[in-house]
Amino acid sequence: MNTEMALGMTERLKPIHARVAAMVRDDIMPLDEEFLAEVGKGDRWGYTPRQIEILEGLKKKAKAAGLWNFWLTGSAAGYGLTTVEYAYLAEEMGKSHLAAEVFNCSAPDTGNMEVLERYGSPEHKRQWLEPLLEGEIRSAYLMTEPDVASSDATNIAMSCVRDGDHYVLNGEKWWSSGAGDPRCRIYIVMVATPDPDRPKHQQHSMILVPAGTAGIEVLRAMQVFGEDDAPHGHMHVRFTNVRVPVANLIWGEGRGFEIAQGRLGPGRIHHCMRAIGQAERALEQLCRRALGREAFGRKLAQLGANYDIIANCRMEIEMARLLCLKAAWMIDQGDARAAAPWISQIKVIAPQVALKVIDEAMQVHGGAGISQDFPLARAWTHVRTLRFADGPDAVHRRQVARAELKKYTQEKV
Ligand SMILES: Cc1cc2nc3c(=O)[nH]c(=O)nc-3n(C[C@H](O)[C@H](O)[C@H](O)COP(=O)(O)OP(=O)(O)OC[C@H]3O[C@@H](n4cnc5c(N)ncnc54)[C@H](O)[C@@H]3O)c2cc1C
Repeated sequence: MNTEMALGMTERLKPIHARVAAMVRDDIMPLDEEFLAEVGKGDRWGYTPRQIEILEGLKKKAKAAGLWNFWLTGSAAGYGLTTVEYAYLAEEMGKSHLAAEVFNCSAPDTGNMEVLERYGSPEHKRQWLEPLLEGEIRSAYLMTEPDVASSDATNIAMSCVRDGDHYVLNGEKWWSSGAGDPRCRIYIVMVATPDPDRPKHQQHSMILVPAGTAGIEVLRAMQVFGEDDAPHGHMHVRFTNVRVPVANLIWGEGRGFEIAQGRLGPGRIHHCMRAIGQAERALEQLCRRALGREAFGRKLAQLGANYDIIANCRMEIEMARLLCLKAAWMIDQGDARAAAPWISQIKVIAPQVALKVIDEAMQVHGGAGISQDFPLARAWTHVRTLRFADGPDAVHRRQVARAELKKYTQEKV
């Protein structure tokens, strides 16, 4: 392991970071609200001509500038960045609703592309990875099920039974993010492929299912605090005798957990990096508001405990960023097992810190803070979901504690 822990911005990253930050600030952020205001003008689960114009225009600009697909770290196929370098870019993207997609760096596609790049067959790559890398289609990851506690993925029960040269899938999934998007063409589905001769963590597989395959019904959009997040959506989906060719299986039967480890490692960090960007933006908004309004004859910033609140927000963001960079650095060392507890630590901390900072920013804004006039309420609800998505806090704490206790159970006496 490289013992010199370099967490700073590298020289090669600095100009890229400056360009990404400028594009987020000058080109993307000013269009966020207009884009969101279009939702529901016409088909809720489609895109209006103006939305297409905004999104495709920005994507075209980013791609032409070479600001594209930064996320594939540690791979010859990618942009060539380390995870630490990517963290600085993702933080900038977190400041805007649209930015991650504009740079083709958004969830769940990045995690899905990682799966296809690392474990997919040449045909999987040709058919699905290539258009995803070009930003032509989108994808969804279907693991969580309504009928089982899915934070323990060994519970996943969707049946997948071989019938000649096909597999037949039956069961239900929910919280399938992005499955509402009309551009979503492919699902990566975690299924049960039981085999009494294999151990507990080799009873599941991942399989590619094209959206719209006969037998798939999108039952409803799950709501997050009353919002359906259209047209992206977190969909509840039923599979009834859905047939896909055997060749759609990724990497082999029983390899689902091995793939999930790969998929959910860096991807979990991407959310954390963006959450830190959301916290930074919220603190900026807090400070501007606190300096721009007066009550009781003084600026809001000077009242009550507001200095302490601002200082605590700054300190917590700095701590979270350092932990995030350390987790990214651990990933870059190439030992997934050693990195796992660090990924879990930041997966718990980043949403908590971001939630706290956004909450304080809402408070300083008064009633406006929770209204449609500021993006703070939307940011809070989004970050709150991160305490579930990719595993709830408790599961990550368990991972951290197990790694800690292991030090003593393996101690030689
Ligand atoms: C907005 C959003 C988007 C999502 N997107 C996706 C997606 O794209 N694809 C997908 O497959 N899933 C997605 N999910 C689902 C998410 O990953 C699951 O909700 C999560 O893994 C928990 O599973 P569960 O809901 O079945 O909760 P359960 O497994 O029922 O757990 C419920 C609670 O039990 C407690 N608990 C569980 N384990 C422990 C433990 N070890 N110690 C102590 N307490 C424990 C925790 O309090 C936990 O919150 C999304 C969720 C949300 C909210």
